[in-house]
Amino acid sequence: MRILVVGGVAAGMSAASRARRHDPHARITVLERSDWISYGACGLPYVLSRDTRGDPGDFGVLVARTPEQMQDQGIDVHLRHDVTGVDAAARTVRVHDRDTGRTRTEPYDQLLLATGVHAARPDWAARDVAGVHVLRDIPDGQAIEADLQRGARRAVIVGGGYIGLEVAESLTRRGLHVTLLEHAGQVAGRALDPAYRDLVGQTLRDAGVDLRTGTQVRGLHTRAGRVTGVETQDGPVSADLVIVAVGVRPSTDLARAAGVRLGRSGAVSVDARQRTNVDGIWAAGDVCEVTHRVTRRRVHLPLGLAANRMGRVAGVNMVGGDARFPGVVGTAIFRVFDRSVARTGLTQDEADAAGLDAVSVDLSSRDHAGYMRDAHDLHVRLTAERGSGRLLGAQFVGVGDAVKRVDVIAALLHSRGRVHDLAEMDLAYAPPFSSVWDVLLVAAGRLG
Ligand code: FAD
Repeated sequence: MRILVVGGVAAGMSAASRARRHDPHARITVLERSDWISYGACGLPYVLSRDTRGDPGDFGVLVARTPEQMQDQGIDVHLRHDVTGVDAAARTVRVHDRDTGRTRTEPYDQLLLATGVHAARPDWAARDVAGVHVLRDIPDGQAIEADLQRGARRAVIVGGGYIGLEVAESLTRRGLHVTLLEHAGQVAGRALDPAYRDLVGQTLRDAGVDLRTGTQVRGLHTRAGRVTGVETQDGPVSADLVIVAVGVRPSTDLARAAGVRLGRSGAVSVDARQRTNVDGIWAAGDVCEVTHRVTRRRVHLPLGLAANRMGRVAGVNMVGGDARFPGVVGTAIFRVFDRSVARTGLTQDEADAAGLDAVSVDLSSRDHAGYMRDAHDLHVRLTAERGSGRLLGAQFVGVGDAVKRVDVIAALLHSRGRVHDLAEMDLAYAPPFSSVWDVLLVAAGRLG
């Protein structure tokens, strides 16, 4: 049995490890085009902000397993190997070795596409202008770090999704003057309903970020091949460093070349066992669509836990086991300066768009007993289906771990729980953690 895995980060390495555990005899090879495997891309903003352990600017702390450790597990890892084609009928891939410049053909019995996503780049964000970056992988992080060490003082971030927001915090912490340009009217557009987006926008402004919403970037200003600013419809904004964070696209070139079907979202369509429509070809991670358990629709929600889990499922199945990916409920969490933001399920806007008869309740309360010195405001929106009382989602904006209450709602969403179930739950209470009637219980009471 010869297993080939294309892509060596979360999904690819989880798959390779699981396949090895379930089949000690399979030949398992990972082909990765970059110099890095098995790392947590989620930590990139925190290496930049100097929040990680180890030497400042050391992206190596993000690595979970080195190629040598994988080799010890009996998994062959080939770095700097770009898979450029798939012949599904012959069960071979074409591989370009970037060190030797040679191209060769590799046979497989089972092939996993774990090619992830790539950062979207608008036409104006040319690759050959120094100082213009995306943040997707370790080399991107290293390039940004190099510009910071060259003495960049003014940064423009284009895009107010969670990566743009996290980088705004990182660069502000590094002492840069940060301008965040967002073409929509608010930041965090896809994650939250409008009132909660406003809280995030206010947090940025309070932290000194020059937030400009409703702003379109039209082009770059450059001098001697290096960026000096961006041009917007309202005029120029100076910058020594520009981070383009306008979303991601699934890396489906290989899948399409192999005749693998894509879903409506543009990501690879797989079944619950991570099988594609082409015999012997599997896909896992950010490159795939997933089933949203609340709407039962196929969506593209590229996040870390799902990528790892899909990889495990594919790894087991590729060597003849039977594992299934249960789908997601759309849980996400991020920090913006001193505020934490979390969401799960559907926002009211998403529930409306899905044609559900949804109702939301908003509550602003204290996250700990009100008399505790470290009690902070916690804003919660709970959304449920009118009539049935089925929980549909929740949004939180608060401080620190208080927003991890999102996991209670995520657990209920997994079991299609109702508002009544939440209202009756025995949640933990002591003054340093919550009020006796936790904000979730109060919100459920108001909605029920
Ligand atoms: P990827 O990590 O994209 O890896 C795919 C790999 O495939 C790449 O290394 C690529 O080089 C390789 N590849 C592609 N095509 C080829 C080819 N033809 N030949 C050879 N190799 C190829 N998720 C969260 O849940 N929480 C977070 O807080 C969070 N924060 C994030 C912050 C940042 C800055 C970023 C960039 C991501 C963050 N994520 C977060 C998302 C998370 O990192 C991804 O969900 C996860 O990395 C997906 O793993 P993957 O293996 O599917 O794909």
